[in-house]
Amino acid sequence: MSTLFEELSRVTTYDYSPEEVREFEVLHEEIRALKKQRNAVIVAHNYYRPEILKVADFVGDSLELALMASKVKDADVIEFAGVHFMAETAKIVNPTRTVLLPNLLAGCQLADAAPAEDLAVRIAELRAKHPDLAVVSYVNTTAAVKALSDIIVTSANAAKVVRTLSSKNILFVPDRNLANHVAEQVPEKNIIPWDGYCYVHQQITPEEISRIRKADPELQIMVHPECRPDVADLADAVLSTSGMVRFAKERPELRFLVVTECGLSDRLAMEVPDKTFVKGCKLCTFMKVTRLEDVRDSLRDMKYEIVVPEEIRVPAERALRRMFEATE
Ligand code: SF4
Repeated sequence: MSTLFEELSRVTTYDYSPEEVREFEVLHEEIRALKKQRNAVIVAHNYYRPEILKVADFVGDSLELALMASKVKDADVIEFAGVHFMAETAKIVNPTRTVLLPNLLAGCQLADAAPAEDLAVRIAELRAKHPDLAVVSYVNTTAAVKALSDIIVTSANAAKVVRTLSSKNILFVPDRNLANHVAEQVPEKNIIPWDGYCYVHQQITPEEISRIRKADPELQIMVHPECRPDVADLADAVLSTSGMVRFAKERPELRFLVVTECGLSDRLAMEVPDKTFVKGCKLCTFMKVTRLEDVRDSLRDMKYEIVVPEEIRVPAERALRRMFEATE
């Protein structure tokens, strides 16, 4: 069995020393003891630091984490190693559990691009023109935006969910690149995009990806749909993060270019050690702000508890449940 140091050394985003890895092992023990004491479950997003993924009970993308959170029954506490909107989503679908976010700085620039007040104004404007308008929001939105939405989608199911709607006119919030990807997949709908984007994926350019492919033509290119359309055009497959994990495991090819936030390459390097993952990626500051110590402190001090007022939680849950039903 490989040691934690050997495992983390395969992961290339961080250059951990053996001393740091020993500190992680001590923290892992503390966290496991606290988890037992609090009767907690730890869930972590694919983009998180590998030493946090290592101690999580469940690792996944937004959809998988939302589903997982909705099914937690035996644990009293959901320790959510993700960003703020994800922890809110867990609280929306499982309000009787205590949901903790280990670091309040873990926000999301894309979620912030759609303030609920602005969305309410835009919906009123568009409904005057398109009475059948459906509001489809990406899971990367605040609880207040989800509450204004008819249905929620993730990058893994956006096209599938939009296809199930009876409305022709769809306001798609907040990511314009994902909206564009959905419009290509579902041409029979009139997709009206909100003008938001993720600063991490937006930074990746087609020139960069073409340069890497030219140097290594054998690479299978996996691109996240939050990337620009001219980057998505270069992909062998446009996939959510969990879609990328499945694709990398199932395909016979051995070399992949991972075009999304860099944390996913770390998960892939840990989970699929016999294949090579080249990084065509950028780091998200929000996803990296949380450290292993924060997870320990959060469970020890029961901080920072996520609270969603019922008048927002109930309509937000309705929109989320519609997504679960549409993708069952
Ligand atoms: S990668 Fe983009 S969408 Fe994801 S948390 Fe960071 S800013 Fe938000």
